Amino acid sequence: MTIRRLWRNARLATLAGTDWGLIEQGAIVTEGEHIAWVGPESALPATRGATEEHDLGGALLTPGLVDCHTHLVYGGRRADEAEMRLNGASYESIARAGGGILSTVRATRAASEAELFDQAAARAQTLMDQGVTTLEIKSGYGLTLEDEARCLRVARRLGQERLLSVRTTFLGAHALPPEYQGRADDYISAVCDWLPQLHAQELVDAVDVFCETIGFTPAQTRRVFEAARTLQLPVKLHAEQLSDQGGAALAASYGALSCDHLEHLSPAGIAAMKTNATAAVLLPGAFYMLREARLPPIAALREAGVPMAVATDHNPGTSPALSLPLMAHMACTLFRLTPLEAVRGITVHAAKALGLHDRGTLAVGQRADFAVWALEHPNELTYWFGHNPCRRVVVAAQERST
Ligand SMILES: [Zn+2]
Repeated sequence: MTIRRLWRNARLATLAGTDWGLIEQGAIVTEGEHIAWVGPESALPATRGATEEHDLGGALLTPGLVDCHTHLVYGGRRADEAEMRLNGASYESIARAGGGILSTVRATRAASEAELFDQAAARAQTLMDQGVTTLEIKSGYGLTLEDEARCLRVARRLGQERLLSVRTTFLGAHALPPEYQGRADDYISAVCDWLPQLHAQELVDAVDVFCETIGFTPAQTRRVFEAARTLQLPVKLHAEQLSDQGGAALAASYGALSCDHLEHLSPAGIAAMKTNATAAVLLPGAFYMLREARLPPIAALREAGVPMAVATDHNPGTSPALSLPLMAHMACTLFRLTPLEAVRGITVHAAKALGLHDRGTLAVGQRADFAVWALEHPNELTYWFGHNPCRRVVVAAQERST
C-alpha cells in the first residue's frame, strides 16, 4: 500500500515559477516518494487515509538542496599545505614539499575503501545536516582503474546507505598521475579505456574533464567526450577557471549538462551554452580560497538566460567547504547573484545541472525531497552565515533523523 503523508502548517517556498512561490499556511501531501498535492492548507482536499501527519509549526519549507559539484571522496587533508601558502610559501616550494593534488592522490591510493567511506560519510553528513538531499560526487583522486573504481563505489554506497541521492561522475582526466608524467596523451587513452569498464559496473552517471593549462587540452577533452558519447553518457566540464581554453563551447557542442567554474568564460562560450541548454555551475568557494579577482560573467549569463547553479566544489585543496547555504551566501556577496538566483542555484538549477528534472521545486509529481528551516523567508538562506538554521530534512518522503 502506498503511504500517504500530510505535512502541514508550513510556509512553503515552492520555487516552481519565476519567483519564490511563497504559500502561507501551506501543506504538502506525499504519496510514496512523490508530492501528490501542494497548496494552502485551506484548500486541502479531504485527507482521510493520510497515514501520517506532520505539524511543521509554521516553519519555512523549501525543496531539498542539490550540491551538483563535489570531489567528496579522497584520503588525507591539505591543511598543512594551506598553512604553508598562508605563511607565504610559493606554489613551487609547496609542490617540492610534496603538496598539491598529487599528495591527495597518494593519500587516496593508500587509504582502504572502508576508510574512504567513513571519511566521505562524515563530510556528506555535514552537507546533509544543512539541507542537502542530492549530492554529486566525482572521482579523480585515484587515477588508476582500480582506485577510480574504489572511489566511485564509495560514492554509490553513500547513496545506498544514507538517506541521500548520489550522482556519480567519472573524472579520471582530473590530473596527470606521476606514472604517466610527460605522456598525457597515453594517460587519456587509458582513461578512455577505463570508462566502459567502470560504466559496465554501473559506477558512472556522467563524465567530466579538467580542461585547463594545468589540466588537459581541448583536444584531449574531446577524446574523453567521444568515449562518453559512445556509451551515451552525459558530459560536463571544469572549464575556463584559470584561462579561456574554449572548453565551454567544446562541452556545449557535446550537449554538456553543465560547464563549471567559468571565471574566464568568453561571449562565444556563453552563446554555445545557451544554444545547447548547458547550465553554468558557479563555485564561489574555490574563487574565495584562491583569492581570484576575475568574476564569472554573471550579467552576460543572466542576459543570455543560461541557468546558473551554485555548488560547494568540496575538495581538499581549493574548496574544503561543507555548507551549501554558505556558498549561496557567497554567490550573492562575491558574484552578485540575487538571493532568488542563488537559492534557485542550489535547488532547481542545480538539479538541472545534473540532468534531473524530478526535483528542485515543490510541485505535484516531484520527488518529496525537502528541507525545513527555522527561518521566516527563503531570502534568509543567503543572509545568515556561520549558522545552520536547518531543522528537518525529508528525502523521498522519509524523514532523516538528525
Ligand atoms: Zn571541481
